[in-house]
Amino acid sequence: MNDPVTIGGVTVKPGTKKAMELPIAKLVTGSPMSMPVVVLNGRRPGPSMWLTAAIHGDEINGTEIVRQVLETLSPKDLFGTLFAVPVVNVYGFTAGDRYLPDRRDLNRSFPGSQRGSLARRIAHLLMSEVVNRCQYGIDLHTASDHRTNLPQIRANLDHVETLELATVFGAPVMMHSSHRDGSLRQVASDAGATVLLYEGGEAWRFDPHATRVGVDGVLRVMTHVGMLDKEEHQPEPSAMSRSSKWVRAGQSGILSLRVDPGDRVARGQVIGQIHNALGVRLSSPKAPIDGVVIGSTLSPVVNRGDAILHVASIAESNGVD
Ligand SMILES: [Zn+2]
Repeated sequence: MNDPVTIGGVTVKPGTKKAMELPIAKLVTGSPMSMPVVVLNGRRPGPSMWLTAAIHGDEINGTEIVRQVLETLSPKDLFGTLFAVPVVNVYGFTAGDRYLPDRRDLNRSFPGSQRGSLARRIAHLLMSEVVNRCQYGIDLHTASDHRTNLPQIRANLDHVETLELATVFGAPVMMHSSHRDGSLRQVASDAGATVLLYEGGEAWRFDPHATRVGVDGVLRVMTHVGMLDKEEHQPEPSAMSRSSKWVRAGQSGILSLRVDPGDRVARGQVIGQIHNALGVRLSSPKAPIDGVVIGSTLSPVVNRGDAILHVASIAESNGVD
């Protein structure tokens, strides 16, 4: 039998599920603000994992992934414990904003502190109540700034177990990244957890494809680490990348892109055209490298220098074409 879990003063018995609110602070009007957490405590012992969404408050697709994952799970069938936090940045989420009210980026504020800025206090609350209890974690994001991302894992692919879980997740692309930036992923990894960051879709919107890839990926990882007793289905092949380049607009104007996320492009290939309002062609941006389109702008109105297309170079050795 698994052990009971106590979080925020609430005890969750083995084989049960509980939803709770962890108090953060009061709004300026005096209303309490809290972080919603759902704990599924499996009947039998096993690993513990966190699932977080909307650390960037406008990246709401992960909130839907968490909901759909929870819908499929029963604590009676679960080994170990799942801590699901569908909305980490509740301030940004309610305002449709990436940041906190003081413009701080919550995902640059980890591990946080009890007495720092609001961002650091929220980071500290998440670390102490959820993240520090877990061996595994998956943090769910989307693109920002009127862009969309092909579903992709970003993780330290030089770490053997991280690479294994990224492969099992089965997003179309996995990007190596080892940034030291005060993010949840960095701080939890440094503390010894195996962490994946999932990116897919755009801010403020649900993306059905990114949702499906995310839900399937989370459930496959949970099965692989032994939290679910299911048959392991072979994931879709995930192309590994260790570098990427942005294409920037060479001229200000109106952009029409010819390629979509997921498309293969060759170096020098024309990926779209920029015209002025009178229909005169100003430039034909080209792919800077051979690779796969992993992100693109959704805004046709571009200024010179704007990032319009993100191309990942694919490592040829992993047998994916
Ligand atoms: Zn994000």
